[in-house]
Amino acid sequence: MSIRKLPNQLIDQIAAGEVVERPASVVKELVENALDAGATVIDIDVQTGGKKRIKITDNGQGITQQDLSMALQRHATSKIQSLDDLESLLSMGFRGEALPSIASVSRFELISRHQDAEMAYQINAHGGEIEGPMPAAHPIGTTIIVSDLFFNTPARRRFMKTDQTEYLRIDELIKRVSLSRFDVTFRLSHNGKMIRNAQGCHSGGDSDILKHQRINQLCGKDFIENAIYMEQERGKLKMSGWVAKPSWNRAQPDRQFFYINNRMIKDKLVGHAIRQAYQDVLFHGRFPAFVLYLDIDPELVDVNVHPTKHEVRFRDSKLVHDFIFGSIHQSLAHTRV
Ligand code: ADP
Ligand code: MG
Repeated sequence: MSIRKLPNQLIDQIAAGEVVERPASVVKELVENALDAGATVIDIDVQTGGKKRIKITDNGQGITQQDLSMALQRHATSKIQSLDDLESLLSMGFRGEALPSIASVSRFELISRHQDAEMAYQINAHGGEIEGPMPAAHPIGTTIIVSDLFFNTPARRRFMKTDQTEYLRIDELIKRVSLSRFDVTFRLSHNGKMIRNAQGCHSGGDSDILKHQRINQLCGKDFIENAIYMEQERGKLKMSGWVAKPSWNRAQPDRQFFYINNRMIKDKLVGHAIRQAYQDVLFHGRFPAFVLYLDIDPELVDVNVHPTKHEVRFRDSKLVHDFIFGSIHQSLAHTRV
C-alpha cells in the first residue's frame, strides 16, 4: 500500500470548480464514464441529495490495475490520442479532468475489475491523498463512491442547496440520460429507497414496450397513447420522436426532452420553433410535451464547450428552425379533425 500526495491538488480543485458544481455534476460525469465503458446496467445510489454519498456501480469493461493509478491523474485519460481528437474534445467539454477533480474535493473510492482481470482493485483518495491500488472484491465493472463532497472546500459546500433540491437535479439528469440510452438499465435510489428503475432493452424483452414504458414514466402515464410518432428528414437534418397531441393538456414544463446527436439540450431557438408549431394548430395545453431526437451533421452545430451548459449554436439557425417548425407542424396538422 502506498500513500502519496497528488502533485496538482490545487489545480485539481480549481478544475473541480469548473466541472463539479454540485452533486448532480458528479453523477453526470460518473454516469458518462460508465456509458463510455459500455455498461448496460448502471446503479446510482445517493444519500442526502448526494451531499453525504454518491455511489455508482456499472457493469462496464472495468479498469485495469495499471490504469487505476492513472485514472486520478490530470489528462491521463486514454480517450485523447491525438490532435485530431481536439475537435471532439472541445465539443465534449473538459476531458480527463473529471475523476481527478472529483477526487480532489471529496472522500473518493474507486473499485474496479477489468473484464480480462482475475481480480478487482481499489484506489482511494481523501482530498488528494491517494491510497492503493490494493486488491478488492468486485464483479467485472466499476463502483465509485464519492463521500462528503466539498468537505475541504467550505465555500462550495455552502453553495449547495437543500437535500431535496440537489436530489431533484440528480433525478432530472437521470431522466435525461435514460431517454438517450434505451439500451441501458438505470436504477436510482435516494436515502435507501429505489425511486427509478428503468429496464433497458439489453435484457431481451420487447424493446418498443420497454421504450414506451420508460417514456410514460417520465412524461405521464398516458403520454405515448396521446402522442404522435414522427420521422422527418431533409438534407442533412433528421428528426424523430414523439410530440403530444395538441388536445393533450396534461403536459408540464418538465416533460420536454430534446436531443441533438443524442445529447440533451435546452435551446431558445429549438423551444421557439416547437412552440410556434403548437400555436399554429388548435392547442389546448399550456406546455407542449415532446421527446425528440434531432440528428445533424456535427459540422453544422457547435455544442457549447462548457460541460455543464446545454446550449448550442447552429451554423444555419434559420434552416434548423424551419425544419423543426415544419416537421412538427406537419405531424400535428394530421391530427386535426
Ligand atoms: P475522461 O472520461 O474524459 O477520459 P475521466 O476523468 O472522466 O476522463 O476518466 C478517466 C479515465 O478513467 C477514463 O478515460 C477511463 O479510462 C477510466 N474510467 C473512469 N470511469 C470508468 C468506468 N466507470 N469504467 C471504466 N473506466 C473508467
Ligand atoms: Mg469522463
